[in-house]
Amino acid sequence: MALRLVIIGAGPAGMRAAEVLRQKAPEAEITLIGDEPHPPYDRPPLSKGFITEGLAPARLWLKPESFYAEQRIRLKLGAPALAIDRARKAVELAGGERVPYDKLLLATGCRGRTLPDAPAGAPVHYLRSLADAAAIRAALRPGLELVLIGGGFIGLEIAASATKLGAKVTVLEMAPRLMSRGVPAPVSDFARALHERHGVEFELEARLLGVARGADGRLLVETRRRGYPADLVIAGIGAAPNTALAEAAGLAVEDGIRVDAQGRTSDPDIFAAGDATRHDNPLLDRAIRVESWQVALNQAAVVAAAMLGAGDAYAELPWLWTDQYDCNIQMLGLFEPGLDMIERRDPAGGGFTLLGLDAEGRIAAAITVNSGRDMAVLRRLVALRAPLPRERLADPTQKLSDLLRAARSA
Ligand code: NAP
Repeated sequence: MALRLVIIGAGPAGMRAAEVLRQKAPEAEITLIGDEPHPPYDRPPLSKGFITEGLAPARLWLKPESFYAEQRIRLKLGAPALAIDRARKAVELAGGERVPYDKLLLATGCRGRTLPDAPAGAPVHYLRSLADAAAIRAALRPGLELVLIGGGFIGLEIAASATKLGAKVTVLEMAPRLMSRGVPAPVSDFARALHERHGVEFELEARLLGVARGADGRLLVETRRRGYPADLVIAGIGAAPNTALAEAAGLAVEDGIRVDAQGRTSDPDIFAAGDATRHDNPLLDRAIRVESWQVALNQAAVVAAAMLGAGDAYAELPWLWTDQYDCNIQMLGLFEPGLDMIERRDPAGGGFTLLGLDAEGRIAAAITVNSGRDMAVLRRLVALRAPLPRERLADPTQKLSDLLRAARSA
């Protein structure tokens, strides 16, 4: 009988795993199960081009719809998986169908956090799915007053998009600075100034009291400091991994499905990949959970190969990017407390790059702000895992490519 390979989660990780499984196991039966009605799609445009340019949904499909039939990947959409029966090795779907597996991959991703004390039916939008983005796009119009709760990636990308469409935007952020989980303070300050130049207003260290509909029918968002009238309220307050299926099946979960560097869970026939995993990272010598497009695609490819017996580990530093207005920010590695920070500012104006050196003088993390051309060289410099001369790194007239050449020949 053909090997039965089943994937729960039809996002980028699930799609990529299915693609690699087909390449490596031409005879296997492959089933890709998703709870949304759409084929696997790309989420980064949801907060950007999908809103500002009115992209058609089909522009977001990661593969043309014909791909799945051509590759003999059975796509089960609109089919939430309810449980994993580990004893009988089957996935139970809403509607009662059971899908048997020999090897199972969980690529269940994350869901957006919701406001804990918002009453049910509160008029707050979130942005996670294509349907969410379509609802936001339909609501946005010039002159609309938009309050965004959360000044992270989602909040700021929507702020830029909504501003482009003529909305008046206020961002309420709980932390003392923007994108505080992902970027160091100088980048938060840069982002704030950038948005303010486009007319966005901020309340930092905001303590949200509630969202209500006022007597005039408009919304009122109240913080401890003041009230903000609004036509539309969107919250982008972080994401949480979808671990319920794994947990109910008795698999190890630690804010993420706990897997090794090849995506193995505590059950030898069940693997996991993407945003939902806390995976061993051999470069960092510890387990991390990263909400990133890169992890979804690249880790999934490695894990799919491991499901068929390959021995490679997934070993990359996290890489993320965000586009806001005409600004591009890219992050490599994790900016953790205690790094020795270096700023390289483009002498010709333009952008800047921040480097975080560890105690041995090696680059542990880097961020480029409108200086994405540095990123390719930085990846190589980081991969060397070698101490680098601090004074040369700090001198923006010294080319990073010369430093790379020197380090390689040292
Ligand atoms: P995020 O980047 O974690 O930002 C959420 C922000 O909201 C945090 O700064 C958080 O502050 C703040 N917050 C939490 N509760 C709040 C409250 N009650 N009032 C005001 N602020 C509050 O998450 P996100 O922007 O919602 O993004 C969700 C997911 O989409 C993530 O996985 C993200 O990586 C992904 N995404 C990525 C990109 C990209 O990589 N370009 C773009 C869009 C979305 P604290 O940190 O203090 O809790």
